[in-house]
Amino acid sequence: MARRRRIYEGKAKVLYEGPEPGTVVQYFKDDATAFNNQKKGVITGKGMLNNRISEYLMQKLEGIGIPTHFVRRLNMREQLVREVEIIPIEVVVRNIAAGSISQRLGIEEGTPLPRSIVEFYFKNDELGDPMVSEEHITAFGWASPQDIDDMMAMALRINDFLVGLLLGVGIRLVDFKIEYGRWWDENDQMRIILADEITPDSCRLWDSQTNDKLDKDRFRRDMGGVEEAYQEVARRLGILPEGGPQDVKGPVSIN
Ligand code: UDP
Repeated sequence: MARRRRIYEGKAKVLYEGPEPGTVVQYFKDDATAFNNQKKGVITGKGMLNNRISEYLMQKLEGIGIPTHFVRRLNMREQLVREVEIIPIEVVVRNIAAGSISQRLGIEEGTPLPRSIVEFYFKNDELGDPMVSEEHITAFGWASPQDIDDMMAMALRINDFLVGLLLGVGIRLVDFKIEYGRWWDENDQMRIILADEITPDSCRLWDSQTNDKLDKDRFRRDMGGVEEAYQEVARRLGILPEGGPQDVKGPVSIN
């Protein structure tokens, strides 16, 4: 395999220079972290499953007109994506109370929210991704009011679509986190597009019958059956590769 330049290594993914200008290769690792990096582990087969799940969901979203960074899957663990400038805001959409909103506001986990709630967090590991308001985002220049409107509108459309898609396979979308990037089209027009990933690492997914958790909370809370849960999500979406998860050798990187 050709040696290529590693652009960035995150907690669950590595980004490599893409084969043509304006593209990046997104490599999905099996590494898992939680609680702002304090808990670390490996979920065997996760990278391969997340690569497939994110591919599937991004393609479906493209199908309803949501612009995404996804170009194509390259192999078991890698996908080609458009190079974007990541907006340093994590957008969380919630349908049912769980995790930090339950703790912060004392709402019992599992309580349906009166309506979908959108929250913003500043992407900063050292600060532990603090929650911020639109005021902070515009005052510090992380995004403009128009960008925020676009991100909000897209987040709610993504939520509505994914809620329905997942419910169709017996999964309740409790909450999820997305990230956006700035992308310049062929006319040098800036567009905000969906970037990063949508996977059980970044969503809370509960079985609609039993409320069993099918996401990273199994890892966060030491519940066991983590690989099986990710596999179950892929299986229900009809994208579990034949033969199940198998490892492929990672790319050789040079720094
Ligand atoms: N989330 C994420 N990355 C983060 C923080 C949150 O993907 O850095 C996801 C998380 O998996 C959940 C949703 O965003 O689906 C809401 O997370 P919450 O604010 O409840 O925080 P957590 O309980 O994960 O600390």
